[in-house]
This record gives sequence, C-alpha cells and structure tokens, in this order.
Amino acid sequence: MAVRRSWLDVPFAEKDEAKAAGARWDASARRWYAPRPDLAGLERWAAGPDVPELLPGEDRSLGSGLFVDLVPSSCWFTNVRSCVAPRDWDRLRRMIDARAGNRCEVCGAGQDRSADRRLEAHERWTYDEARRVQTLKRLICLCSDCHTVTHFGFARVRGLAPQARAHLIEVTGMTPAEADRHIARAFDLWEARSRVDWTLDLGLLTGAGITPVPPPDPAARAGVARDTLRAQGPGTAR
Ligand SMILES: [Zn+2]
Repeated sequence: MAVRRSWLDVPFAEKDEAKAAGARWDASARRWYAPRPDLAGLERWAAGPDVPELLPGEDRSLGSGLFVDLVPSSCWFTNVRSCVAPRDWDRLRRMIDARAGNRCEVCGAGQDRSADRRLEAHERWTYDEARRVQTLKRLICLCSDCHTVTHFGFARVRGLAPQARAHLIEVTGMTPAEADRHIARAFDLWEARSRVDWTLDLGLLTGAGITPVPPPDPAARAGVARDTLRAQGPGTAR
C-alpha cells in the first residue's frame, strides 16, 4: 500500500532539532516526514514546492562520461550547496537524486556507506570566452568516487590523487598515459580560465525559484572559493 507522507524539508544542520520535535525519517525516500497530517510542532519545516525535474535551460546531455572538470579559481561558486539556502539545497538534492534513480550518472554506482561512497551533486558549466560569461547548464548526480576525479585539484590537496587517477582509468578505459595527458590538459585549461573574472549566469537556479546568495566582490572570489573548498570540499558536498 502506498504511504502518503506529510513531507518535511529539514536542513542537515537542523535534523536533531526536527527529530526532537517529532520528525521521522523515511530511509527509502531519504526524507523527513511528519507523523501527523497537521504537522503539529513541525510547521517551520513544511515541504516547499518540488523543483521541476528539468531545470529551465538545463542541458542534461552536456558533459557525459567521466572527466576532470575544474572550476576556475576566479569563480566564487564552488558548489550549489554552499551558494543556496539549506532548504533550497534539500529540494534540489532530492530532485537530482530521484531523476538519476539514486545512481551515479557516470558510473552507475549507488550509495554505499560501507565503502564510504555517497551521492553528490556536481555542476556543469559552459564558458563563453568572448562575453566572459560562465553559465550553469546542468546539475548531475555523481558518486563521491567520480566527484573526486572531477575535482582533481582538490583530490591532490586531500592526498587522494592516486585513487582518483585509478578510478578515472577504470571508468573510462584510458591508458595511464592517456589519463595523465587528460589531467594535464584539464589543469592547463583551469589556469587559463582562472585568469578571467567571470560573470555568472545562474538562470538555471533562479528560473526554478531558487535564489543563490549574492556573489562576493570579484576581488574576494578566489579566497571565498578556496575557503569554501577547504571547509566543505566536494567530498562532503552533501
Ligand atoms: Zn560514479
């Protein structure tokens, strides 16, 4: 029998508070719910409207397969989670996971806590060099192994480069030499793009009713990006 739940949007940081107020966890839906339809005591977490399954202007064919995809250091927007309100992040995360069937959209792996493999959201961008506009074009559900490959610079910082390289080779079938050339090219591109102060086009989010936090001053962006990665990192992006 289908269960009709009174769903809640509970940011991770408020889960203990919500639990104490009576919220319950549905493990298969990976979502909190109210045990009673009237949400007594849980009104502040009442679920917002669902995010549409295709975001306005999204291109879900952009950037298929596994590749190193480095965000320019001049971009403050290191990941969606750090740049939208926690409630909006939950709504987005739920949509991204659900439409991917709770599987990594690159290698097909599911979440596996015993292997420390989680599902995470990654942003795919296009870069208009002439107009200096960086446009968010796709949100993709990646397993933490594929996500670590994607953010290869951060993998190096965390001492995970050998594992990331091995995963890249395993998933793509590249030879070790091809993988090394691919990684080197990605860093060359990152250096070139990091010399530009990009104007961000986040219409993908705003068109879906999600308001990103206002961007910091261009001069402060590299520092914000670095601090965010340090504090949060792609490995814990969810
Ligand atoms: Zn994967």
